[in-house]
Amino acid sequence: MYNSSEWVKASNLAEEHLFCKTNDLFARDIVIRCMYNQQNWNGVLEFAKRFPLEQNKILADRARGKIGDDGEALPERFSLIEWDDVNLLENWYQYGDTVWWRHPWGWTHWIMPAGFQLSNIHPSLLALATKVLIKPWVPESTKIVTERRGFGTKLALSFSGGMDSMAAALLLPTDTILSYHERSFPSLLSHDLPIRLFDEIKQRWGRDVLQVPSNHEKIRTIHGKQVGFSTDYAAGVHLILLADYLNLEGIAFGTPIDNIWLQKGRKFRDFKESWHWNYWVKEFANAGLHLVMPINHISEAGAMKICQQSDLIECINSCLRGRAGKFCGKCWKCFHKNGPLGRKIDPMSNEIQILLHKIPLRTAQHALWAIQRMGLEYVVPHLSKELIQPLDWWEKAYAPGLDLIQRPWRTTIQENTEKFIPYMENPELLHEVNLFSDYPL
Ligand SMILES: [Zn+2]
Repeated sequence: MYNSSEWVKASNLAEEHLFCKTNDLFARDIVIRCMYNQQNWNGVLEFAKRFPLEQNKILADRARGKIGDDGEALPERFSLIEWDDVNLLENWYQYGDTVWWRHPWGWTHWIMPAGFQLSNIHPSLLALATKVLIKPWVPESTKIVTERRGFGTKLALSFSGGMDSMAAALLLPTDTILSYHERSFPSLLSHDLPIRLFDEIKQRWGRDVLQVPSNHEKIRTIHGKQVGFSTDYAAGVHLILLADYLNLEGIAFGTPIDNIWLQKGRKFRDFKESWHWNYWVKEFANAGLHLVMPINHISEAGAMKICQQSDLIECINSCLRGRAGKFCGKCWKCFHKNGPLGRKIDPMSNEIQILLHKIPLRTAQHALWAIQRMGLEYVVPHLSKELIQPLDWWEKAYAPGLDLIQRPWRTTIQENTEKFIPYMENPELLHEVNLFSDYPL
């Protein structure tokens, strides 16, 4: 199986023999090599720590080189370079396949596919990348002016491998490029489940998922926030940088109703008229890119319904703590994404209990639906008022959202949506959402 590149199958089988008296060394070798071939660099590092064999150390060193973490691998020639606060676009560099970006507080990098040339990319793309990465802390970044880039011809989806981005992939045309931002430093988040999914996508659909390792989620931590994206669209910054390389005319994000038509997942807003939407659409257009929201008209519940009808449903999982192909069953994602699918979770786990008792409830509209769907009302007596009305309308599509999607994708998305789920008979129910209104947004 290993020799025919069936990494998931080979690794699953070998894992059963990790402590077998006769096969252990062979099995350990297969497991770490499978991870290496799947570009699961953090997995390789963890495994080498667990089994410190000489050949594992060699693979771990190579994996560390791929990650290039924490400035260790910053090329010597860049070590004295400072942040250029006058010409903001002069802060981008390339060394080998790695793009290095000097920001006011240090360096961030991306490991690009072979053949990528930073010097060939349009300045408007560097401008947009700079804005999505540091707009909250460097207001001058919003003032960068460049000439406009012409639109390319292809669409790419910023693809996390979770339920929402899978639903987006299922609604978009099949020639959409799928690309994964891979957090390149060790953290609680595990790439195990997405990487297994990408393998299946390759086997069954014959489609590649382009993985781009980067550590840009650390920028926020300098400002006292948790590791994560600087702005909503930083999740797709690798695609902004790759837009000329891939000849892109648009970047799609799998953002559901919950974060588009609802504010903080609990109060309706007219997103089309929002400052946020109008600002970013214009910024993307200046970089020759449409900002595409293929599941803006679908809730997280609707996304689950769509994924349930896919041949890949068994491999789709939003849990970020999964290991060895299994979801944890104890995190908030497992509660509201795996539980309603009938997957075994523990609603009494610490994390789930804490979040169920936090008011206002996080991702409220969807969480309430999930509670109802799993029949867990008895666990949350304090939410009885919010759970009076049946919430099955939440699983259906919001037809007015289709208008937010640019042609030529709208027709395909509409046709595909109708294959999977019905429209809400009464969209007013969404317009009226205003949960925990006593609490400020
Ligand atoms: Zn989980």
